[in-house]
Amino acid sequence: MKVYLDNAATTPLDPEVLEAMLPFMTEHFGNPSSTHSFGRKTKDAIETARRTVASFLHCQPSEITFTSGGTEADNIAIYDAIHSHGVKNIILSKVEHHAVLDSSINFKKLGINALFVNLDEKGVVDLKHLETLLTKHKDVLVSLMHANNEIANLLPLQQVAEICRKHNALFHSDTVQSMAHYAFDLSSIDIDYITGSAHKFHGPKGVGFLYHKKKKSFAKIIHGGSQERDHRSGTENLYGIIGLAKAMEIAYNHLEDHQNRILSLKNYMIEQLKDKVSDVRFNGESADESLYTVLSINLPDTGIGSMLLFSLDLEGIAASGGSACASGSDKGSHVLEQIPGSHHRLNVRFSFSKMNTKEEIDYVVETLSKIMDRGN
Ligand code: PLP
Repeated sequence: MKVYLDNAATTPLDPEVLEAMLPFMTEHFGNPSSTHSFGRKTKDAIETARRTVASFLHCQPSEITFTSGGTEADNIAIYDAIHSHGVKNIILSKVEHHAVLDSSINFKKLGINALFVNLDEKGVVDLKHLETLLTKHKDVLVSLMHANNEIANLLPLQQVAEICRKHNALFHSDTVQSMAHYAFDLSSIDIDYITGSAHKFHGPKGVGFLYHKKKKSFAKIIHGGSQERDHRSGTENLYGIIGLAKAMEIAYNHLEDHQNRILSLKNYMIEQLKDKVSDVRFNGESADESLYTVLSINLPDTGIGSMLLFSLDLEGIAASGGSACASGSDKGSHVLEQIPGSHHRLNVRFSFSKMNTKEEIDYVVETLSKIMDRGN
């Protein structure tokens, strides 16, 4: 049996999404910047996709810029905050994705301070400390992710947005893991930047978007032509954008159904693990109210050590040891490093999608329990 439980790394493409993309790989190939009918056709399709994304987020189409994915969108948000809004201090946490952590730290050479907000032992952001930092510093961008890709913690977006406004700070939230998994009403949350990446919600890889609240100026990173309303140069990833919008449409049209189904799978797995795997613990808030697609478990090292993921893989089970970006490198997880007690035990992240079944969960728990017993 093959079971894919690494959906926070990437999700399989929905066949309906592929169907929507195909004509734009074959028949409709015009360059969207060309003024003839071939170009007008693809330009129209991109603008329709932009309207689709904006309508689900309750924002203006002009506030959406398509990018090469979540990493680029996060980078542009931070760059824009610094270069067009005079940000001098970035408040972030040590459990942010590297797209945010590394780009914030990279700006140190421009004299921009990276200030870290305190986290509790479950990796939850201390909002009182955030307020303290905001009272001490001016010209601030707060960059805190909505849903953590490793430990599933959710940030109270509305509350943080209000705190930021009260202190006159800009607010960016990396919403890559929660986009198309939760509803966002940007007409009622006062937030400056959020981001999305199609491959996290059954769309194609290499395409994402940045939402940036309408402002007078916008600093671009990629220079060249005037595509994307001159916010991001380069010939558009036409079929990627079509696929992103289609994936978003499917996700939002079935949101509640998918949320309920996936959450009940996750809860079922938690119960089964507690029942069948001895001394299992859960990292961060992943077994409490949290991102319903991610479960991060912590196990005693019964001698199997780093072979655990490999053993699961041999049994056809795909899971992850930390974040996707950390896999393939031998660096430990910077997120789990912030969770006391997780490090000297084994950590596995299981992440779910609408395509998983209860039978798969049974197989995974049974296999994991056998592997752990073998290690004893
Ligand atoms: N932010 C978070 C929270 C993620 O989980 C990821 C992907 O793992 C990214 C950003 C980067 O997105 P992309 O793969 O589209 O560059």
